[in-house]
Amino acid sequence: MSRRALASAHVQLAILAGRGVNPHLARWAARFEHCKRFAGSADPGGVPAARNRIFQWFRDECRLPWLLMMDDDCVPVAGTERLLSCAEPIAAARVWARTGRQAHPHTISVACLKVHRQAVERIRPPWFRFGRGPGACECVWFFGRACRAGFRPVQAGLVGHRFPVTVLPPEHGDGGPRFLFDAELRNEPETGPRPAD
Ligand SMILES: [Zn+2]
Repeated sequence: MSRRALASAHVQLAILAGRGVNPHLARWAARFEHCKRFAGSADPGGVPAARNRIFQWFRDECRLPWLLMMDDDCVPVAGTERLLSCAEPIAAARVWARTGRQAHPHTISVACLKVHRQAVERIRPPWFRFGRGPGACECVWFFGRACRAGFRPVQAGLVGHRFPVTVLPPEHGDGGPRFLFDAELRNEPETGPRPAD
């Protein structure tokens, strides 16, 4: 069986679509016969719950052997193919955070995650939950949960990551333009260059 056949016939692609699927991902997803979009949530606290809904739906209502869960801000690249061809029961593409560094280099990021049914069934729910402390997102929770169930999640392949960014023009001769990601924009103090309402 070719990799292409494996990808199209035996993988359920589930896209967590909170802000709208980016066009790169939408084009790439067209190769999958089995593609379903799940509503995400703008509230960050709602993301683990949305991931749990995907896993539960896959476990209870889908019959395919593989689940590929991707966030709507993932941008597939050539290296994403290595995730598709990976035979490990739990594999995740390497993802770069807005800091410019790889997210969760010592565990996995669940932004682009491929899981075999056996793992979904054996890991006890909730599969995803925010952990305690800064940086303890649902990726780390899932990794720990998977390890306790006897799995060893691996990193396989790469995927791009698209961030909404606002470019503020220089004002008062204060240097070049500034690039503010949405989360930073919300934290900006009232002074300084701001987008007009
Ligand atoms: Zn994470």
